Amino acid sequence: MISVPEAQARIVDAVSPFPGQELALAEAWGRVLTRPVAAPIPSPVFDNSAMDGYALRAADTAAAGPGAPVSLFVAATVPAGISLKASLKPGEAMRIFTGAKMPDGADAVVKQEDVERSGETIRLSRVVSRGENIRRRGEELEIDAKVLGPGRPLQAAALALLAGFGLERIEVHAAPRVGILVTGSELVPPGAPLEPAQIYESNSFGLSAALQELGLKPAFAERCRDRREDLQWAFAEGLQRADFLIVTGGVSVGDFDFVKEAAADAGVREVFWKVRQKPGKPVFFGKKAEGKFLFGLPGNPASALVCFYEYVRPALLRALGARELFLPALRLPLKQGLNKKPGLRHFLKAHADLGGAAPSLHILEGQGSHLMRSFAAANALAVLPEEGESWAAGDLVQAHLLPSIFQAWRGG
Ligand code: AMP
Ligand code: MG
Repeated sequence: MISVPEAQARIVDAVSPFPGQELALAEAWGRVLTRPVAAPIPSPVFDNSAMDGYALRAADTAAAGPGAPVSLFVAATVPAGISLKASLKPGEAMRIFTGAKMPDGADAVVKQEDVERSGETIRLSRVVSRGENIRRRGEELEIDAKVLGPGRPLQAAALALLAGFGLERIEVHAAPRVGILVTGSELVPPGAPLEPAQIYESNSFGLSAALQELGLKPAFAERCRDRREDLQWAFAEGLQRADFLIVTGGVSVGDFDFVKEAAADAGVREVFWKVRQKPGKPVFFGKKAEGKFLFGLPGNPASALVCFYEYVRPALLRALGARELFLPALRLPLKQGLNKKPGLRHFLKAHADLGGAAPSLHILEGQGSHLMRSFAAANALAVLPEEGESWAAGDLVQAHLLPSIFQAWRGG
């Protein structure tokens, strides 16, 4: 049995970033650039006004002061989107708006609140310095400077940044196709009548949603009975339609747990099986070929989801080309004391209270790996090291923050 860090290191080692693919910007959310993008135009692309106000020559205001206003003639109006032919002459101002191109001859903008206007004249009682309220061409980035590099999934601001340079298509790592296969002869889908000894299948719903947190949609989500031949066929077939096959159930050592054997039958080579952790000890990871992987997650819903966040998510992020693979970690003081047996790393459903002045980590009631109410209330996993045995209230413990559509956890 290997440790959690060893299992994670083997995943990083086994999975390489997927090849590049050109995509329209609108399709690229959550994807990762394959190489740095250079600016095709400067930013800003021309000198423009940062304010609604008046463009003028700073030198014309040199004599202005309180009680000694300077008057300037408003010679023209410059809205955004207009390139004026006329240039500004000494003693003149031009009405200008935010984002409008600076007229030739002007070297500053005074905002409209700072002048008194009467008819075609403005009066101004202070000195304006050169460059005031001008956004300079190339001030953010010159042509060919690096706009953005690879490594981070493209989020809202990054896409807006790239669009602002007029880029229409970019090269990103291809997204892995991910299939979900839940195993268990007792499983029926929600909506169907429940016969005695059957349960509703829930793992595919949790895993599909967790995939969507990465911007991925499952290529398929199917069920399979606990029969070795059925599994072998489903694995071989699933790995043709998907690059990553996520299987749940059947990975422990029960008489009907055939995932490991069926994976071998289907040509999947074991990278690891069993990790010193709770929940999720029997987790399996195997590789069939370059870019073809199978995860066997334990069937208990909480185990399956913990293993998704700690192993599958990092593997998928690596395929996507991301550098930051693991859930963001934070050390937080425990709200209450707790004990455990030494030997395994524990992942506990927890609530990280980050809002107040004194952040804390609250371990939730209901840690059984079949219990999902606590997981639904959690926003973090508390991570207790293998060797530790007891913690007092206030002791610092590591928390892995779970993804949330309402909070940008992803750092880096
Ligand atoms: P297994 O890992 O196959 O031994 O399953 C462990 C436990 O998880 C059993 O109680 C199963 O009934 C349950 N289980 C397995 N797969 C699912 C699933 N897809 N949805 C809900 N519960 C499941
Ligand atoms: Mg089972």
